[in-house]
Amino acid sequence: MVYCPVCGSENPEEAEECRKCGKNLEHIIHNIKSEEREFNLLTVSGYVFIILGLFSLGTLSIVGLILGYKTFKQNDPRAKTHGFIIMILNLVVILFWIWILFFIPNWWQSSHLNESIAKFFRLPS
Ligand SMILES: [Zn+2]
Repeated sequence: MVYCPVCGSENPEEAEECRKCGKNLEHIIHNIKSEEREFNLLTVSGYVFIILGLFSLGTLSIVGLILGYKTFKQNDPRAKTHGFIIMILNLVVILFWIWILFFIPNWWQSSHLNESIAKFFRLPS
């Protein structure tokens, strides 16, 4: 649906001019199309940054999170869904790297685990 900027009446999307006042609507349709392009670009980059985040210790996922939020803020219900998925996945990547970088070393150093590994490989602990 396209709303005429002059009289505010609803027109079908393919309409070239307003049914009520005859105002040319083509430039409005053009704006909708460029919004669509912006939406696609945002969504695709949001997903790309999930992958980039995986290879960058999660740092680029912060950008992905922002892109996801921008997608989410758009009015399109599809954008909301994609934005939500992008935000969740980027968050997962960030949390994954935080876990790898901060928790694994502590876990690895715990003597209990070292003993278990020593027993497993039959090494003197
Ligand atoms: Zn009109």
